Amino acid sequence: LPPSQLVQEYIEQNKVMIFSKSYCPFCHRVKDLFNQLNVHYTALELDHMDNGLEVQEALAERSGQSTVPNVFINGEHLGGADKTFETHEKGELLPLINKSDHDYDYDLIVIGGGSGGLAASKRAADLGAKVAVCDFVTPTPKGTTWGLGGTCVNVGCIPKKLMHQAAILGHDMKDSREFGWETPEAITHDWNKMVEGIQSHIGSLNWGYRVALRDKKVTYLNAYSTFIDSHTLKTVDRRGKEKIVTADKFLLAMGGRPRYPDITGAKEHCITSDDIFSLPYAPGKTLLVGASYIALECAGFLAGLGYDTTVMVRSILLRGFDQQMAENVGAYMEKNGIKFIRGAVPSSVEQIEEGTPGMLKVTATTSEGEEITDEYNTVVIAVGRDPCTSGIGLENIGVEMAKSGKVIVNNEEQTSVPHIYAVGDIIEGGLELTPVAIQAGRLLAQRLYGNGKLLTDYVNVPTTVFTPLEYGCCGLSEETAIENYGEDNIEVYHSNFQPLEFTVPHRPENDCYAKLICVKNENERVVGFHVLGPNAGEITQGFGIALKLNATKSDFDNLIGIHPTCAEIFTTLNITKRSGKDVNAQGC
Ligand code: FAD
Ligand code: NDP
Repeated sequence: LPPSQLVQEYIEQNKVMIFSKSYCPFCHRVKDLFNQLNVHYTALELDHMDNGLEVQEALAERSGQSTVPNVFINGEHLGGADKTFETHEKGELLPLINKSDHDYDYDLIVIGGGSGGLAASKRAADLGAKVAVCDFVTPTPKGTTWGLGGTCVNVGCIPKKLMHQAAILGHDMKDSREFGWETPEAITHDWNKMVEGIQSHIGSLNWGYRVALRDKKVTYLNAYSTFIDSHTLKTVDRRGKEKIVTADKFLLAMGGRPRYPDITGAKEHCITSDDIFSLPYAPGKTLLVGASYIALECAGFLAGLGYDTTVMVRSILLRGFDQQMAENVGAYMEKNGIKFIRGAVPSSVEQIEEGTPGMLKVTATTSEGEEITDEYNTVVIAVGRDPCTSGIGLENIGVEMAKSGKVIVNNEEQTSVPHIYAVGDIIEGGLELTPVAIQAGRLLAQRLYGNGKLLTDYVNVPTTVFTPLEYGCCGLSEETAIENYGEDNIEVYHSNFQPLEFTVPHRPENDCYAKLICVKNENERVVGFHVLGPNAGEITQGFGIALKLNATKSDFDNLIGIHPTCAEIFTTLNITKRSGKDVNAQGC
């Protein structure tokens, strides 16, 4: 190609085009800047070309600039290194790169200002996209509502972990007497004071999110959105005011809400996790319906705070988790005063006394068909969550959904409508966990508006159930490992252990448990990590990387422990389950 035509083609075909020389320090600085900004660019090194001099002359003719670097963005001449840095310092470089080639109001509208939506919108705005976030909380049947930030911040991870901590403190206060603290025999707990403290922290987080959106120039629409067509949303705010907004791309991040069983009195008299963390009165004697994360975690902190607590279990504890661990979690809870009604589902809830909390009569049917009743001040329904995908026009615009109501996406979080993406709790086959939603949102934004190539890895995601003894795990359950690799091909190493802190207050010796599941014919690669004990969340977070990096049992054995900790047990596991040997802790 003649040099002038070559220059023309490079400029036309590349969003960010740098004519450069490989030895030029200014060119290096400019390329470093684009790398830091995660912006994809093409650099043509003139000194590597036979006709580099002619190309440089053609460039000078076209741009009036004879030096390198010579930067073009979206077909327009920007200038050299100084001009590039000056434009960046003024905050104009990314918007110039991501300049819209459409007539919509926004480059990206995110529906849902929760974990995934906020992460994606902030990252997209950082990369120069014009972004709006619509977030609206439909009040619960009890009228509870909350601010910006979604489930995790308002009615999930954050208040849950703080209530878990409140319960742990109560237990620790009792232990503290054995360590010499003179606490009064009757320790009392003030529910309202705890709720006030937690809600005030949440209020500060809500505020922080609003400020962050404003700082990043993301438009916040506190309004409920529905699709009119695949590029147009109708938003309706609290006062019923409607607005039409359009965008080039959309991100669905609406999360989920608690499901109510179809029984008399459920919506009228029961509460869910959406209500409990701001409940303006102490719950009293409480029944939790359900046996997964939410039911068990709430049961754990309520019992820890001193409330008479019962869990109604339809089938098994913690479906999908390692069942030995799940049963250990339940056994410890039972030992600590939490009652379990197994094999039963409620059939009706009737109010027998008004008040806060009042009194409810719960009738349930057992798997044997027997009818049982009891009275509770509060009933918390925790039987799963439904994705917020219905009634917002997704069907009309062709977004494919699974039977569960969740959105079907490919491995790039793209739905069946190519310019509509989805992350977080609403995606079919995903994981309903905050860090998963955040990672997916960030990486997606990076791929859409930056130089990102990374996809979210949904495998070996560590997680923790914050029950009184926390249960942390990463990788496969023993059941799944057997299914995938065959019983003869897996070796399970395990041990009970006693945290040093448990000794002086004479807590039971063998409630904590550690287990590693290894694949024998893969050099004992660890495919399942399970721990039941204090701070299991912290331990599991650390060891999660080992599973990501395909660590083997000998890598764990070669790791030197930190003494005295609970986590060090994983460096000394030497009893296989197959051996049937006693795994009770043997002193220090
Ligand atoms: P969300 O955070 O739910 O945000 C969605 C937002 O979209 C909401 O604000 C919703 O009101 C809004 N919205 C919905 N529809 C519309 C619409 N049409 N228009 C406008 N706005 C709309 N995960 C963990 O990792 N660790 C934990 O310890 C943990 N504990 C939890 C405890 C409880 C009790 C619960 C319920 C969940 C917990 N989770 C935990 C799960 C975690 O909270 C979720 O996985 C995470 O919040 C999902 O993020 P998201 O972005 O998908 O949706
Ligand atoms: P899940 O969907 O995990 O579990 C639902 C539970 O309710 C199961 O025990 C199920 O029993 C039971 N159930 C379902 N229907 C009925 C019914 N009609 N009557 C009685 N019991 C019923 O829901 P959760 O609400 O506990 O949690 C939702 C998600 O939120 C979790 O999967 C998790 O990803 C996330 N989360 C994460 C936390 C964390 O990271 N620590 C904490 C809390 C939530 P069965 O087994 O018989 O089907």
